[in-house]
Amino acid sequence: MTINNNSAKWMQLPRDVLVGHGVLEEIGDVCRDLKMKGNALIVTGSTTKNIAGKRVSNLLESAGCSAEMVLTCKATKEEVEKVMEKALEVEANFLLGVGSGRSIDLAKLASTRLELPFISVPTAASHDGIASSRASIVDNGISTSAQAQAPIAVIADTEIISAAPYRFLAAGCGDIISNYTAVLDWELASRLRNEYFGAYAAALSRMAARVIIECADSIKPEHETSARLVVKALVSNGVAMSIAGSSRPASGSEHMFSHALDKIAPKPALHGEQCGVGTIMMMYLHGGNWQEIREALKKIGAPVTAEELGIEDKYIIEALLNAHSIRPERYTILGSGLNPSAAEKVARITKVIN
Ligand SMILES: [Zn+2]
Repeated sequence: MTINNNSAKWMQLPRDVLVGHGVLEEIGDVCRDLKMKGNALIVTGSTTKNIAGKRVSNLLESAGCSAEMVLTCKATKEEVEKVMEKALEVEANFLLGVGSGRSIDLAKLASTRLELPFISVPTAASHDGIASSRASIVDNGISTSAQAQAPIAVIADTEIISAAPYRFLAAGCGDIISNYTAVLDWELASRLRNEYFGAYAAALSRMAARVIIECADSIKPEHETSARLVVKALVSNGVAMSIAGSSRPASGSEHMFSHALDKIAPKPALHGEQCGVGTIMMMYLHGGNWQEIREALKKIGAPVTAEELGIEDKYIIEALLNAHSIRPERYTILGSGLNPSAAEKVARITKVIN
């Protein structure tokens, strides 16, 4: 193990993290604890507005803040600008992202650019962006991952999260399980490219994936304990990335495969669903226990085949062939790319296609 003693680290972590039944009610206390007052801007979607956005608004008003709302539909560069304009117009002192992913990403990016704090209020647990400093954004039709600030607080109400469609929670599990291949890729890059490798961040990331795999049998729809477990693992992923100073502990070749699918497939599946299937195949390429990954995803009820993803086989192959070029600077098991016969072989052997 090489220990890098010289590089200074700035780890930005959420300060208040609330996970549990009915914790949304404590949003006023969180604002008081963080000395956040004045004007709040709630970034939410048309569905999540009714699930939690309006309640957040009322709770903030009762806590003495003034709350305005902005409805968003897509996580695009233009929407970030729209949120920023609204924040300037209402003289927002802080932002809240209330939703499953898009609203959180938009609040995260807009608040980062405006140098204002933001609170993450997930209504579903479908990916690790709920607590991380990375945001997914569509720029000119291409989905990219942008660096932003971490939320100052995460308020994850398991009553709300467990009532969301189960598909989201299962996708969240896929995003966490993908840590396994992400860490293997990171180790590979450290050996082959002498890239910095953070043993602590890697261990934390592996542990989150291990917990989900070991508990796969007990992750079930409408169980608040399942929602709690997955949320904690997703928060832990955000922490691992903050410690590493990059998304390396939670994003490797399987994420590149998912990003490639987003680009190629006419109707992509959820991020975490695609990452889960990617993990099965990348684990095979690493020579690891891909069957264990597949079994765990199956038990959880997450997709393990192209058919279950709702994506045609040919797009899976195309994504495998293109994945290495998504982030060329990020060295992974995909190296300089698979050839068509190898791509087909990995997808067939792992039963993703038949
Ligand atoms: Zn992810």
